Amino acid sequence: MIVNGNKVLQSVPEDAANILPQLDSKAVASLWQHAAYRARIGTYQGTPVYLLDTDEPVELAGFESLPLRQLLHRVDSQLFALAGRACQVAYFIRTHLFCSQCGQGLEEVTDELAVYCRTCDYRTYPRISPCIIVAVYRGHGDSAEILLAHGVRHPEGLYSVLAGFVESGETLEQCLAREVFEETGVDVECIEYVMSQPWPFPHSLMMGFTARYRDGDVTPDGNEVLAANWFTFNALPKTPPPGTIAAQLIDAARTKCGC
Ligand SMILES: [Zn+2]
Repeated sequence: MIVNGNKVLQSVPEDAANILPQLDSKAVASLWQHAAYRARIGTYQGTPVYLLDTDEPVELAGFESLPLRQLLHRVDSQLFALAGRACQVAYFIRTHLFCSQCGQGLEEVTDELAVYCRTCDYRTYPRISPCIIVAVYRGHGDSAEILLAHGVRHPEGLYSVLAGFVESGETLEQCLAREVFEETGVDVECIEYVMSQPWPFPHSLMMGFTARYRDGDVTPDGNEVLAANWFTFNALPKTPPPGTIAAQLIDAARTKCGC
C-alpha cells in the first residue's frame, strides 16, 4: 500500500491484472528509503502487506495515486480493509508530529502503534471514531417498510439508512435512539446489533443495527437529512451498493420483517 495523503497507488487502466503494486524486495528496498513512514500492516492471502507513506506521489509504470474511495469497488473487502488501515495509520502519523499536551516533538513507538512524548511521558494512539448505522423498520410481510433518508453528503437520488457519531459518555443504544430522533423525529425500540465495518474516511468504525419503529411522524431535520421516508422493500429507491454495511442492514431489516 503506497500511500500519499488520502491516495493509494493503484493500477490504471481499471482492468489491469494487479490492482495494487506487487514489488520484489529490491524495488521495495529502494522505495523504503524514500518513505516518510513504513510499517507492516497485515497479511493478504498469505502475502505480507506493507504500508509506505510517501511525501511525493511515487511514479510506477501502470500505476497512479488515486483516492482510497476509488479502490472500494475494485478489490475485495479484506484487501480494502487493509488499504483503509494503511490510510488510517499514515493519517495518524502525519497528524501526530507534536505532543498535544506540551508541544514537543513526538517519536514513534516500536512495540505498538503509537507515538510517544519523552518530555511529558504521554502516549497517543490512532483515533477511531465510533458511529452507529441503523435500519429502522415497521410492519410485516408485504406491507413492511424501511425508513431511508437522503443526507446532505449523499449523491443525488440516493437514499440510505441513518447514521451518526457516538458522543462522549453515550452508549451505542443511546446514540442510536438520539440520532434517529434528531434526524427524522422517529422513536425506536427493539435495537439489535448486526455487524460492524471500519470506514476509513478518515477513521470511523461503523456499528450496524436494526431497530423497530415505535412512534412519531417522519420529519427530516433539514440539516443532516434533507429527505426521509418509509419505503416498502419491493419498491426501494436507489440505495448503497452490495458490500456496503448499509446494503447489508437493509437486508437484515428485510429478514426481520419476513419479506
Ligand atoms: Zn508532551
